[in-house]
Amino acid sequence: MAPPEHRSDAQHVLQRVFGYDSFRGHQQEIVEHVIGGGDALVLMPTGGGKSLCYQVPALVRPGVGVVVSPLIALMQDQVDALNELGVRAGFLNSTQSSEQRRSTEQAFLAGELDLLYLAPERLSLDSTLELLDRGEVALFAIDEAHCVAQWGHDFRPDYLNLSVLHQRWPSVPRIALTATATPATRREIATRLELTEARHFVSDFDRPNIQYRIVPKSDPRKQLLSFLRTEHPGDAGIVYRLSRAEVERTAEFLVANGIEALPYHAGLDKEVRARHQARFLREDGLVMVATIAFGMGIDKPDVRFVAHLDLPKSVEGYYQETGRAGRDGLPSTAWMAYGLQDVVQQRKLIDLSEGDEAHRRTLSRHLDSMLALCETVECRRAQLLAYFGQEASGPCQNCDTCLSPPESWDGTIAAQKLLSTVVRLDRERNQRFGAGQVIDILRGKRTPKVEQFRHDSLSVFGVGADLSDAEWRGVVRQLLAQRLLSVEGDYGTLVLTEASAEVLRRENPRQVLLRTEPKRVASTPRT
Ligand code: ADP
Ligand code: ZN
Repeated sequence: MAPPEHRSDAQHVLQRVFGYDSFRGHQQEIVEHVIGGGDALVLMPTGGGKSLCYQVPALVRPGVGVVVSPLIALMQDQVDALNELGVRAGFLNSTQSSEQRRSTEQAFLAGELDLLYLAPERLSLDSTLELLDRGEVALFAIDEAHCVAQWGHDFRPDYLNLSVLHQRWPSVPRIALTATATPATRREIATRLELTEARHFVSDFDRPNIQYRIVPKSDPRKQLLSFLRTEHPGDAGIVYRLSRAEVERTAEFLVANGIEALPYHAGLDKEVRARHQARFLREDGLVMVATIAFGMGIDKPDVRFVAHLDLPKSVEGYYQETGRAGRDGLPSTAWMAYGLQDVVQQRKLIDLSEGDEAHRRTLSRHLDSMLALCETVECRRAQLLAYFGQEASGPCQNCDTCLSPPESWDGTIAAQKLLSTVVRLDRERNQRFGAGQVIDILRGKRTPKVEQFRHDSLSVFGVGADLSDAEWRGVVRQLLAQRLLSVEGDYGTLVLTEASAEVLRRENPRQVLLRTEPKRVASTPRT
């Protein structure tokens, strides 16, 4: 590392050590605030440049910058990259031998480190706390700070212990960083980490070069193939799937159709995962088919598309995953196919999830927001930004609803027909029926199952013959998104909500506005 007189200011470190001309966005303000000893809560989208916000102050302030990160698998790479730049960095986590740990600890105590990366569970060990007491700490950086949010999608119990930092070292500045935080999560981070005095730095979350599109799902693999062929031939991208089996199947399908694709999920050998990740980063035009196990900390600038073939669990997850596209600022696509089955599946996962009722309610709320984004008739970007507490300047003209505004229709009567069918089926206490049966009844189809339960004798039988299957599925999805209908249990049984009554009442029923199902999936070739 450079001698002390050359470490005197942030600008200098930025240029000499990192080789960059200038700070980006809020970086300079943040760096100066932390160098001055202030606490900070930094919200910056993925790829925004969070690392420099603590790396530069760690080099300017006397002592070692201690970085708490859950990304254990990336620590070696991060430390190697810093060492390349001449920054003295080390890490402590469970993947090391005791020998390696001891040598890092000695370097820390001897003042021979600029940055020390720690896995969060290290801080629940007294030995770690005592170690930190014996050295000099320049600052604490808490990376991926949203992991402290108890009902968030990345919750790590070890993060709850991080309030110890403030209690034990009240005068050491702390900087918490995250790419994903709604105003509620932000408040939770501030409370749980005792960052009550911290200045908040909130970046612009808009990614104008990403085009957001959400289409109804029919045959997801084929839809994906046609999307790739028409819009992204030869481009690098990520395809997210919910299950490992679907990851494998989808990757095989793409390969069989002449597209270079690799699978990635937590069930694969560590070496295979590392190899696939390395190939994706290094080679051009590879498609990574993955579960959400893939992506955190991945820095590949030219990912041209992110495709979701299954519904993400939350808007935060969706934003983070789609945010991996277009870090180089060039036009990119966030494309998703979703259908009724996704809603049924996600509800089932929520029902089966561990944790108490409050936890399940939070998961439900996350899903509801995701559904609302899928079914909106307004600008998707505006809705996405609003979710993060940011106001858009108007319709973006770079999302599907802006580019081809969906038509809407008065679906009050259709909703009443559907909800009254659900009411009638609900009277058959022992039998529960999913959307398929409800739609068959509405359309007046005498299927074996309809005849078995004598549903052709219901007064609602055939009252919905004016709409197609696809249109009825659209009605169901949108009623779910508007919380006028809910789904539960293994078979995706449709059930009423409290608000359903407002639609069903005789006098002055609540109006239901629905978006018209697109006839065909529009695909606008990139120019
Ligand atoms: P994040 O952690 O927010 O996802 P990183 O800290 O990994 O983002 O930074 C993303 C990329 O941007 C990295 O390649 C980094 O070197 C680069 N970067 C960050 N700040 C600057 C800057 N001021 N000038 C140029 N490049 C920068
Ligand atoms: Zn828009």
